[in-house]
Amino acid sequence: MSAPRFDIVVAGGGLVGMAIAYGLARAGKRVAVCDGADGAHRAARGNFGLVWVQGKGGRCLPYAQWSRESSQRWSSFAAQLQRETGVNPGFERPGGIELCETREERDAAQQLLESIRAQDPSLTYEVLDPAALKARIPSASAALAGGLYSPHDGHASPLHTLRAMQQAFQQHGGTYLPRNEVREIGTHNDGFEVITATGTLVAQRVVLAAGLDNARLAPMVGMHAPISPLRGQIMVTERLAPFLDYPTLVVRQTPEGSVLLGDSAEDVGFDDGQTRSVMADIARRARTAFPLLAHARIVRAWGALRIMTPDGLPVYEESRSHPGAFLAICHSGVTLAAAHTDVIAPWIAGGTRPAILQPFVATRFSNPTDAHHV
Ligand SMILES: Cc1cc2nc3c(=O)[nH]c(=O)nc-3n(C[C@H](O)[C@H](O)[C@H](O)COP(=O)(O)OP(=O)(O)OC[C@H]3O[C@@H](n4cnc5c(N)ncnc54)[C@H](O)[C@@H]3O)c2cc1C
Repeated sequence: MSAPRFDIVVAGGGLVGMAIAYGLARAGKRVAVCDGADGAHRAARGNFGLVWVQGKGGRCLPYAQWSRESSQRWSSFAAQLQRETGVNPGFERPGGIELCETREERDAAQQLLESIRAQDPSLTYEVLDPAALKARIPSASAALAGGLYSPHDGHASPLHTLRAMQQAFQQHGGTYLPRNEVREIGTHNDGFEVITATGTLVAQRVVLAAGLDNARLAPMVGMHAPISPLRGQIMVTERLAPFLDYPTLVVRQTPEGSVLLGDSAEDVGFDDGQTRSVMADIARRARTAFPLLAHARIVRAWGALRIMTPDGLPVYEESRSHPGAFLAICHSGVTLAAAHTDVIAPWIAGGTRPAILQPFVATRFSNPTDAHHV
């Protein structure tokens, strides 16, 4: 029997792979998503759910602009997903607040945002002194030194977003293949031969969106993905009465009332476990900011691995030696989901590469003088 043929095979059904695959299917392409098994590392199922712009791109303005572009697209992206599937991705964009425990923290955060605004005045923010913070969030501790507010920030339910994208993808004719991790990719007269855990597919194009496994897959199509895991731990409380109208980097309340407390950044290899000391620190930070959390019950906690490039910036690249093979890597797959569907997918479908993506090539890692930093 001959191998099933597709226009495009996407390796990886996490937030990045599903967002791109949904955009491709929406554009009328015949697409298969080969996803991993339940035991695979899946940041898409363990993240904090922020659609966050403020502070990103301090040393690479296009990253700030790319994040904001996605954040601006999120509202219609979420509405379309809900219309097509009935699943509400839970997106809200009331603006986000970075909370500061000390005046030094606030000054440093302000300096960073000011340096970004100096390059692009449309990236706006406000400095909140303790009184202004209290006015916006009455439950915030008076002991905080204030915070930074930016209207570009928001949050969403990552799990509902993933489910909505999976469903919408299939409604547009896409083929989702769980427990079908890609083992090998080779060339074929018609493009590529993709060998998975259960069989072989043939496609004119392939997209590598397999999270941390992109490091292994990229060399099969002549690319380099120097990525490493960075663990984050998150805790969730029981549902509480609404007390927080804005997402923050350390605490956010979902529309259902649960409160996410996060998160850490630990260089511990592929260990996605939890540790008492990190969880104690996360709890301390949350309680310091919101004293009412002191008696909240923690109902769930987990660790998950971010997919980090050496400079923290994303990679969107087509292979020079294997045209038609694309690589997609980022550590803000919730934030960037809307742009991945609306902008990256049309490029991969055959459109022109958007100019804003210029810095986001993996070849920057072979020439350190070209490196940018987040
Ligand atoms: C603690 C934590 C907090 C975070 N908070 C935020 C946040 O607030 N906002 C934000 O924007 N981002 C956040 N992120 C990042 C976000 O979760 C990731 O950017 C996003 O999930 C990356 O998506 P991905 O599809 O590249 O990888 P993943 O979500 O890891 O998905 C990879 C997929 O590929 C599959 N796979 C693996 N190997 C193969 C293979 N060989 N073949 C086929 N499939 C394969 C896996 O099964 C998986 O489904 C956070 C991440 C962590 C860990």
